Amino acid sequence: MRDTTFGVQPVLLIVDDQVIDLKTLSTAVRDLAQIHIARSGHEALEIARQCRPDVVLLDIEMPDMSGFEVCRALKSDPETSDAAVIFVSAHTHTDNELRALEYGGVDFIQKPLNIPIARAHIKAHLTLRNEAKRLARHDALTGLPNRILMHELTEQTLHKTRQNHEQVAMLLLDLHNFKIINDSMGHAVGDLVLREVASRLSRSLRPMDAVSRQGGDEFILLLPEVIGFDVVVDFAERTLATVALPLLIQGNRYDLSASIGISLFPEDSSDVESLYRHAESAMYQAKLSGRNRYCFYSAHIETRMRARHLLERHMRDALEEGVFEVFYQAKINAQYNQVMGMEALIRWRNSDGILISPADFIPLAEETGLIIPMGKYVLLKACKEMRKIHELGFCMTISVNISAVQFREESFLQMVKSILVESELEAKFLELEITEGVLARDIDNSRETLFNLRSLGVRIAIDDFGTGYSSLAYLKRFPIDVLKIDQSFVRDMLTDKSDSAIIEAIIKMGQALGLELVAEGVETQEQAAALLEQGCQIMQGYLYSRPVPFAQMCSFLSSEFKANILPATQIEDVPPVGFEH
Ligand code: C2E
Ligand code: CA
Ligand code: CA
Repeated sequence: MRDTTFGVQPVLLIVDDQVIDLKTLSTAVRDLAQIHIARSGHEALEIARQCRPDVVLLDIEMPDMSGFEVCRALKSDPETSDAAVIFVSAHTHTDNELRALEYGGVDFIQKPLNIPIARAHIKAHLTLRNEAKRLARHDALTGLPNRILMHELTEQTLHKTRQNHEQVAMLLLDLHNFKIINDSMGHAVGDLVLREVASRLSRSLRPMDAVSRQGGDEFILLLPEVIGFDVVVDFAERTLATVALPLLIQGNRYDLSASIGISLFPEDSSDVESLYRHAESAMYQAKLSGRNRYCFYSAHIETRMRARHLLERHMRDALEEGVFEVFYQAKINAQYNQVMGMEALIRWRNSDGILISPADFIPLAEETGLIIPMGKYVLLKACKEMRKIHELGFCMTISVNISAVQFREESFLQMVKSILVESELEAKFLELEITEGVLARDIDNSRETLFNLRSLGVRIAIDDFGTGYSSLAYLKRFPIDVLKIDQSFVRDMLTDKSDSAIIEAIIKMGQALGLELVAEGVETQEQAAALLEQGCQIMQGYLYSRPVPFAQMCSFLSSEFKANILPATQIEDVPPVGFEH
């Protein structure tokens, strides 16, 4: 756990009007402390207020103020009153020594200086001060930082955070049934309980986090460098679970529970005081809602986090139960009315039977890593179902969306290989759709993965083309087969000149590089006609087919549309366009 206060050097102020004595003393102890010097009493008071010394070496005989007067002034100022004052004097009168102690000095060093002895005295007082400071800032029972140190740590953390634009979470944890245990089993047992909770909390922290005992059965946890509130939710849930683990003391079992209030800098609190106040008010809120609860101060964050958490949990369950479905949308060659292939699109039907759009859950699946098993599930299902379509006598490709998280996963290539084996689908019938961003992020690794996919025989399409980097350079450097023109351009191409100009440019670029072009989101005959005229033949969109379940796609292929739109292999007198290479 972080405890920065005691890693810092102690501070020593040496006050003497004799330059030679100042030099001798500061050279003798320069390895023991951070040294400040003053040549007069007034200067000493001014510097002391700034450097807050742990120990002051104070000459008694000085022209402007005597050492005794300086000592009195130091002791009456709360900013400097903690400093241990050691007087230094050439007088040999015992009177002087007694007066030194009366004025609040702790020790007396005789001039002319005996350096080894002076050094030993100074060192002993620095060590004592340090220990006193440590004790004053730690809880004697648990050894954790106390409220004073936590306040300092929070101040330091916020200071740093203001510069880094990061976030800080403060969690105030209050035990529920501690008082009952303490009253019924005695304080000795109560102490053991608090020590055990302190050690459990300490063990759950990252190195930069801090925990303190505020007094009674209240603890504060301070989490700096927080990225995303769900980290805080996870931490709060883990902490509640840790506290709730059964506790065995002297053969008796105790079950504790706690409430946690959470405030966040800078979201809902702008300084140390408001962080505390808001954590406390959130903690009372948590207490009201029952045992083992946490609560954010900000209702807005609370609602958002709960919804996300719920969604994540449902997503995990849905994956385990295999309730995700894969829908298919046909890709049509509008010139020859051929079905060239289809795109697999994941669907999630919630318990009310309502379909949830992938746009609503894919981003969270990517953040939580659930996209890995989810993407694998879609790929396997899509390959197997395409194999069934081949068995029905239709020959076409299946396109599957691959998220950046999946693509960058180490086992990605191996996963694709094993799915091709398991589904018995020939690699040339599989097309993976990735976005431009995936390629731009890590060029060397992406190139290697793409070349490995190419050597398997898998095709690569760039999805949503035109919305990202759209750089000719990478189109040339990467083994790409297809450009999918983003639906946003198609939507407005008939009314917006710049959109139709972008489409024209993409088509020219694709043709020059010998790439297949697919227009997405084609909804009207007019759009289809304009695209055809510009040279893009393959289209996908509601005009031809919405994404539909597998069974519906099979009947689409074999019945109604047969008269107008035929699967590629059913038409013999047209050349296969952009299909088999
Ligand atoms: P996308 O890959 O660009 O997929 C095309 C989206 O456009 C689909 O939305 C499709 O239903 C919709 N669409 C197709 N034709 C039309 C049309 O004529 N008009 C309009 N307005 N929309 C049309 P969907 O299925 O909601 O998917 C949204 C996005 O979610 C996809 O965009 C894709 O990025 C992602 N996604 C879907 N399934 C998967 C998956 O299995 N894995 C991954 N990683 N992402 C997926
Ligand atoms: Ca796609
Ligand atoms: Ca797309």
